[in-house]
Amino acid sequence: MHTNAESAGSYRGRLAPSPTGYLHLGHARTFWVAQQRAKANNGVLVLRNEDLDAMRFKLEFVDAMLEDLKWFGFEWQEGPDCGGSFGPYNQNERSHFHRAALNKLRDGGFIYPCTCSRKDIQSAARAPHAADDKEPIYPGTCRNNCESQMANSKFSWRFRVPHGETISFADGSFGPQQFVAGKDFGDFVVWRHDDVPAYQLSVVVDDAAMRITEVVRGADLLVSTARQLLLYRALGLEPPRFFHCALMTDAAGARLAKRHDALSLRTLRAQGAAPEDLRRSWSLANPA
Ligand code: GLU
Repeated sequence: MHTNAESAGSYRGRLAPSPTGYLHLGHARTFWVAQQRAKANNGVLVLRNEDLDAMRFKLEFVDAMLEDLKWFGFEWQEGPDCGGSFGPYNQNERSHFHRAALNKLRDGGFIYPCTCSRKDIQSAARAPHAADDKEPIYPGTCRNNCESQMANSKFSWRFRVPHGETISFADGSFGPQQFVAGKDFGDFVVWRHDDVPAYQLSVVVDDAAMRITEVVRGADLLVSTARQLLLYRALGLEPPRFFHCALMTDAAGARLAKRHDALSLRTLRAQGAAPEDLRRSWSLANPA
């Protein structure tokens, strides 16, 4: 998969943090790979603030995020603080792009309105096949709904995945990947019942609109890449390339999360840690 922009020699990568807590060392390691790859390709690095999740997002985390990234040594050429030609770079200011994509999916018959609650789905759904993917497989309850039936109810919009189709892509780090729609992942939400675009849709729309040529992110999103490839196809957009990074774990082998305060960049900085030393410890753990 090659994008037009990249064949013209203009690599565009991105950092897409969500301000739902303090960034930790695991984020920094994945982002560092993204920055190194952009640099190695003489490319541009974009910072996109993924602040759509109003329930979990706090303004103080946005400032902290920018400050912590700068302290660690990240440099981006486009972003909410410095602008650029593909803004706005705060996701919650991009709803016109997201809504246009939603309308396109609706007009194309790719999505259906769904009134199921998270609880309904948890009790009826099958567990997803991929260990890192927490999303249960949607049992299909609302698959035959149409919008006109929905007059008085709150609903989300769900993408109808082509059951049985194998979605393949070549990951820049993990190599060839294959996921079967309906088995490894099910129909997924593109627009939430509280009228907010869901992650899968907003990330595709914004990566495409910002002309991102390679997405570098954590390996927990490998299955989501299959979902997103279906969205690129439905929207008639050319997908970027993908490079997923192994997730960092703590001493007990658990995946780092924003609750791991001890490893937040904030705490490390307050304790006098030097970013160079932290980076050196990664290369000792994973010699190139
Ligand atoms: N904001 C998302 C996250 O922090 C970005 C995921 C992605 O890179 O696509 O998980």
